[in-house]
Amino acid sequence: MINNEAIEKRLFASELNKNLIGKKVSIAGWVEDVRPLGALIFLTVRDVSGVVQVIFNKSNTSQNVFLTAKSVARQSAIKIYGTVKESKAKVANVEIQAENIQIVSKAQHPLPIDPTGRVGSSLDLRLDSRALDLRNPFTSAIFKIKHIALQSIRKTLLDEKFIEVNTPKIIGQAAEGGANLFSLDYFGKKAFLAQSPQLYKEQLTLSLDRVFEISTYFRAEKSHTRRHLNEFVSVDIEAAFSYKEDVMDILEKMVVKAINDVLNNCKKELKVLNRELEIPKVPFERITYSQAIEDLKGSGLKIKFGEDLNTKALRRLSKRHKDFYFITDWPTSLKPFYIETKKDDDKISESFDLMYGYLELASGGTRVSDREKLEKRLMYCGLDPKNFSEHLKTFSWGMPVHAGWGLGLDRFVMFLTGMKNIREVVLYPRDRFRLTP
Ligand code: ATP
Ligand code: MG
Repeated sequence: MINNEAIEKRLFASELNKNLIGKKVSIAGWVEDVRPLGALIFLTVRDVSGVVQVIFNKSNTSQNVFLTAKSVARQSAIKIYGTVKESKAKVANVEIQAENIQIVSKAQHPLPIDPTGRVGSSLDLRLDSRALDLRNPFTSAIFKIKHIALQSIRKTLLDEKFIEVNTPKIIGQAAEGGANLFSLDYFGKKAFLAQSPQLYKEQLTLSLDRVFEISTYFRAEKSHTRRHLNEFVSVDIEAAFSYKEDVMDILEKMVVKAINDVLNNCKKELKVLNRELEIPKVPFERITYSQAIEDLKGSGLKIKFGEDLNTKALRRLSKRHKDFYFITDWPTSLKPFYIETKKDDDKISESFDLMYGYLELASGGTRVSDREKLEKRLMYCGLDPKNFSEHLKTFSWGMPVHAGWGLGLDRFVMFLTGMKNIREVVLYPRDRFRLTP
């Protein structure tokens, strides 16, 4: 067997190139295919970066090695030691002439799904075996894109002078009213899982000025749709001395940069997903809620001022607004208590949603920064200011005017990858019917 010490550092499939021809290397991965052909055995080995063709020649290897290679079960974890050779295959420049094989861990067949994707499986079955499903280049492409998007988002926000923070996820008070919160027993007291970092991020603007957080949040919504989960990741920002227009510009810049970075760094992955991503036109179109209901009237759908835009309405709107667009100036009654209202009309709020097609990607706005007004807004929303005393007290410590937004990362990745179901872009999705694996 292979003596680990004797082997130089292992290389990834993507690192093998013509400059290494004639060099001894080691690789590690999973057996995708085994094809014995007389005195030769062709092994396709996949690692996270790609595939390598490995060839065993009976005349160059010991009988033991040759037989091991011939009988290795597909999807077993293996290590290969051999020499880099030029390849005649169209798909790769180089291959490995193997000298040795080590079976690190044998795959037990039958496997629950075929991770090569040649035999199709339902999404449910794939999610039941998610770790194995991720060996499928289609699935792993989604998460490589998510990873690049996350890096890009962080870069934009850091360049914009935001400080990354972590706020509590176990909270003592129902921050936004109580509906949709998971509750739990906290040493005999009732606690909740955070549905957003809203109140904390607002408080932090009075000292850290500009903050952002990328984290998991929880919503006990029963709705079972292709764009809702009970646990999702949100990118949140809050900026002091800012209004909604300022943070809309940051959001737009961040989205465009993330698309650019994915286009430049994920060519292979986009191809695997058959996704043709385009850089959107800037500035994004901005329509008010009132214009949206006018638009809808034109297409035969009557929405009264104050009514929410349901899925049907949003689908209709997306026929007219195909790219990214903002819907601004929502009725105050549809927005949470912390949203600022227009100076001349308190029925309209200083709010916006970022849309792509019918998908809501982000919500944000200018916040109420005046303590008295915030108390009034709480009461207007049927909430008791006493329950918010911890939050309200911070508004007497020099609270700046501030604005921010929350972007659903998973929904943004649905756009980037072209996936229609949010479960495709979350490693281990949690919905009403799924709590495992
Ligand atoms: P929706 O109307 O689509 O249910 P929302 O208005 O309730 O969303 P917000 O409270 O505005 O959601 O949250 C900010 C962003 O977080 C949303 O625009 C969306 O991208 C994302 N988001 C909210 N709820 C969920 C969820 N259950 N699953 C996945 N993403 C979510
Ligand atoms: Mg929203």
